[in-house]
Amino acid sequence: MAEQNVPYKIYLNEKDIPKQWYNLRADMKNKPAPLLNPGTLQPLKAEELAPIFCEELIQQELDNDTAFVDIPAEIQEYYKTYRPSPTIRAYHLEKALGTPAKIYYKFEGNNTSGSHKLNSALAQAYYAKKQGLKGVTTETGAGQWGTALSMACAYFGLDCKVFMVKVSYEQKPFRREVMRVYGADVTPSPSMSTAIGRKILADHPGTTGSLGCAISEAVEVATSNEGYRYVLGSVLNQVLLHQSVIGLEAKAALDQYGITPDIIIGCAGGGSNLGGLIAPFMGEKLRGEKDYRIIAVEPASCPSFTRGKFAYDFCDTGMICPLAKMYTLGSSFIPSANHAGGLRFHGMSTILSQLYHDGYMEAVAVEQTAVFQAAEQFARTEGILPAPESSHAIRAAIDEALKCKETGEEKTILFGLTGTGYFDMVAYENFHDGKMSDYIPTDADLQKGFDGIPKFPGNEF
Ligand SMILES: *Cc1c(COP(=O)(O)O)cnc(C)c1O
Repeated sequence: MAEQNVPYKIYLNEKDIPKQWYNLRADMKNKPAPLLNPGTLQPLKAEELAPIFCEELIQQELDNDTAFVDIPAEIQEYYKTYRPSPTIRAYHLEKALGTPAKIYYKFEGNNTSGSHKLNSALAQAYYAKKQGLKGVTTETGAGQWGTALSMACAYFGLDCKVFMVKVSYEQKPFRREVMRVYGADVTPSPSMSTAIGRKILADHPGTTGSLGCAISEAVEVATSNEGYRYVLGSVLNQVLLHQSVIGLEAKAALDQYGITPDIIIGCAGGGSNLGGLIAPFMGEKLRGEKDYRIIAVEPASCPSFTRGKFAYDFCDTGMICPLAKMYTLGSSFIPSANHAGGLRFHGMSTILSQLYHDGYMEAVAVEQTAVFQAAEQFARTEGILPAPESSHAIRAAIDEALKCKETGEEKTILFGLTGTGYFDMVAYENFHDGKMSDYIPTDADLQKGFDGIPKFPGNEF
């Protein structure tokens, strides 16, 4: 069989880095619902988004029809420093599991930011620079997005202001310093430096913060400072568009060896890596050319897909951002201090939400300690120290491979290994010391979040 000759790492050539991003929306029959203006409840027009986002990114955000978008040459130049990323056959893990399944992973941790987020950070910084802006503001949870954006802003010569969720700021001081190496200004959120931060601190003294709070602060600073716009590392349609390089490369690598995955797995925080990884495969599925099982993996502590509501909701705690129709736990939902900081967002990409709602993909929720067990099994066999976020996908991939062991099926599994875990050693330490808890929110906990979802005609859930 051809697969016998598959090398451990499948590398593409530099010339095979995608020249265009693929916009999955072009092939969706049911398009993701438009963003709404929270005041008028009407679909947002480009002019209304212009004070918050960069012009060209707004066009990408609203474009449901163009299937392929050229990647500007300046972005391609930087992509060359760390792309193409390898697609790796997990031979050692397969052997340890004793599974007949064939496991592949697309590894996005081979850049200093340590995750896939640089793929979109570069695009967003480039368009901000092209528009002649002074700088950008953003939030960061675990710190990977802030780091990626800092790198991109340093490269394109932009000022970068990062609001970092307080629990991560405290747990990951070295992350903060990496951002400062690249010239970013980093503030723990909620902070006293914005009106919304002061209000959140007054209402919830001692809060460890959430992505939703940090987004509100970053948006406030962008809209109240001349020459600044806000950029976001996940959730948005434009981010999934940029992340399609992951899937396009993975598919090209597998195609070289005639490999077709049966199951494609990715962790889901706001949905950007998963949306990017599955993009070309989902395109085939939507066009009725091929079928794949696609699985989103989320933490049981922040279960947007598996226990959330499909409804219009705010993207931020301060309720100043547009309304997005998505699987949501409510914008006031603050998850327990889950160690996978990048998976703590209460909502989900509107694209993936629509696809999930229409039955094109599945979702599973996994518990933290089981995730770290999988992370260590992976590290000890494959060598790479995985990020806790990525390890959610590893958990699900191992579980699928173990099912194959029972049934004897030789399925081919592809999963996204989104990043490395060097800055997550406090989480690994808690795991080793038996201090990690598997807190799963009760229905009553979730109800509090659902109660905050805006109610208006057409938004029944
Ligand atoms: C941010 C992050 C995620 C989750 O974000 P998505 O937008 O859902 O991809 C996953 N893994 C890593 C390493 C991250 O940094």
